[in-house]
Amino acid sequence: MEFIEKVTENADEIQTRVLAEILSRNSNVEYLKRHGLDGHTDTEAFKKVVPVISYEDIQPDIKRIANGDSSPILCCEPISEFLTSSGTSGGERKLVPMTGEELRRRESFNNLSTPVMTQCFPGIDRGKAMNFLFVASESKTPSGLLARQAITSLLRNSDLKDGPDNPFTSPRDSFLCEDYFQSVYSQMLCGLCQNKQVLRAGAIFAAGFIRAIRFLEEHWSLLCNDIRTGSVNSLITDPLVREAVMRILRPDPELADLIESECRKDSWQGIIPRLWPNTMYISVIVTGTMSQYVPTIDYYGNGLPLVSTLYGSSECYFGINLNPLSKPSDVSYTFIPTMAYFEFLPVNENNGGRDEVTDSTSVPKSLDGEEQQELVDLVNVKLGHEYEVVVTTYAGLYRYRVGDVLRVAGFKNNAPQFNFVCRKNVLLSIDSDKTDEAELQNAVKKAASNLIPFNICVADYTSYADTTQVPGHYVLYWELSQNELSNPVPPTVFQDCCFTIEESFASMYRQHRNSKTISPLEIRIVEAGTFDKIMDYAISLGASNNQYKTPRCVKSEPIIELLDTRVMSCYFSPKCPQWTPQWNYKN
Ligand code: AMP
Repeated sequence: MEFIEKVTENADEIQTRVLAEILSRNSNVEYLKRHGLDGHTDTEAFKKVVPVISYEDIQPDIKRIANGDSSPILCCEPISEFLTSSGTSGGERKLVPMTGEELRRRESFNNLSTPVMTQCFPGIDRGKAMNFLFVASESKTPSGLLARQAITSLLRNSDLKDGPDNPFTSPRDSFLCEDYFQSVYSQMLCGLCQNKQVLRAGAIFAAGFIRAIRFLEEHWSLLCNDIRTGSVNSLITDPLVREAVMRILRPDPELADLIESECRKDSWQGIIPRLWPNTMYISVIVTGTMSQYVPTIDYYGNGLPLVSTLYGSSECYFGINLNPLSKPSDVSYTFIPTMAYFEFLPVNENNGGRDEVTDSTSVPKSLDGEEQQELVDLVNVKLGHEYEVVVTTYAGLYRYRVGDVLRVAGFKNNAPQFNFVCRKNVLLSIDSDKTDEAELQNAVKKAASNLIPFNICVADYTSYADTTQVPGHYVLYWELSQNELSNPVPPTVFQDCCFTIEESFASMYRQHRNSKTISPLEIRIVEAGTFDKIMDYAISLGASNNQYKTPRCVKSEPIIELLDTRVMSCYFSPKCPQWTPQWNYKN
């Protein structure tokens, strides 16, 4: 806590020092020489000559490193591995160069939230965490460097302990097992058989946690059998996993009875506190598009606090949540000024802002000289304003646009605290209309409120701009979550949902609808389990269970086909949304 107090107090000074340190260490790297920095380490010179870039701008340099060029291209320290960024809405995965030192810096960042949580939940350190974490398979670049996801790297690099020193319920070998079924089965089994010791449950993102609970819904009877007999099901074939579980598992018929009787009940509401009675909170990221999972986790958790602890990416770790009890919609992350040098690009119409027309698959465009002057330093961001975050890291990214839009929610001393707003890229577009992730999320949220009287919520969704017919139209796929209190929904209500979505879209969309250059929006209701199938498909192509995020817009043919084969009913917007001509281009 003292550290957080100190670094947030001296945020400005620290940021200047961090930049000077990065630039002096790397004064000889090819990239900085190429841009003519000429050994300067001051902020002014840096901002004058080093351009603000996107991944594509350094892809040729990254390819050289991946192909074995070990000269100092981006960073003076040797590259130890690449982290593969999941990206969010399609497109190639990015390779982010990593160094041993940067990995250690991130480890200490991860530890920063421990005192915050202990202060908020006294005694939390006296029990175990049932955290569902998974490794994904690794690949090697032509030069032999590992390319793997951030969590895989973290798990493989950390000194995971078994036995009484293990702060998790899962043994090391369950975390490190690449087979999802065996990994989640054994993690769930160990979580169940140590149920009284579990003080917090979670995963990295909300979607991963829900997937684990759904797994329990499908497999609880096998798991109960193992707990009753003290043996591991023969479906678990990995000998290391079997041995690790056997070191924890004891025959416990009483516990098996309890789990069985709870899982047999019609309602799974509150299943987390029912099976893990000492759980103090659920640790899952529910900010950004993950916020749509809040009702489902609330249902399983019966209102246990949902805590989004960290905000980070493969490229850089940014901030921690200092108010773990804040509502998911209010969560803000305090930027830690020692992690990297941060700059902020105001989000407005000049730089490809959220209102502006950009190609739906494009990454942020390069900035011209004037736009580069607009970037604001960490301590100079303004309350309530939105910015795109730009980072300069110790591992060799210089003025790199991460692609996330953040809003300033407050300050901890001199360090800003940000709400996560959205990924920057535009998702849907038929004509000159452009709809981004936040707009879509907001519209779906509003429309889904039409289903509340029927005790139904939207469990997951994605979208697609169908241009096979002219004029094209937006298609939304909805998977619904129902419970024992749910009632059938009349078709007119789904039609109203379509209309609500259209009404909440930006003026350009509504104008196109009125001029009939976009056809009525369509909602396709898909069978339960469809989004799990999409996740399975993504994982079969190399995505990881931890990092997977439902794409809010799908472009790939096989996924659209998969969705379409599971459609149960379709509804269209019955009328045009309101639109009146305006003088300015913005809403
Ligand atoms: P990856 O590099 O694949 O791990 O993805 C990183 C991206 O995940 C970030 O750039 C954000 O878009 C998203 N993300 C990470 N942490 C959070 C968070 N706490 N809230 C919302 N989105 C997040």
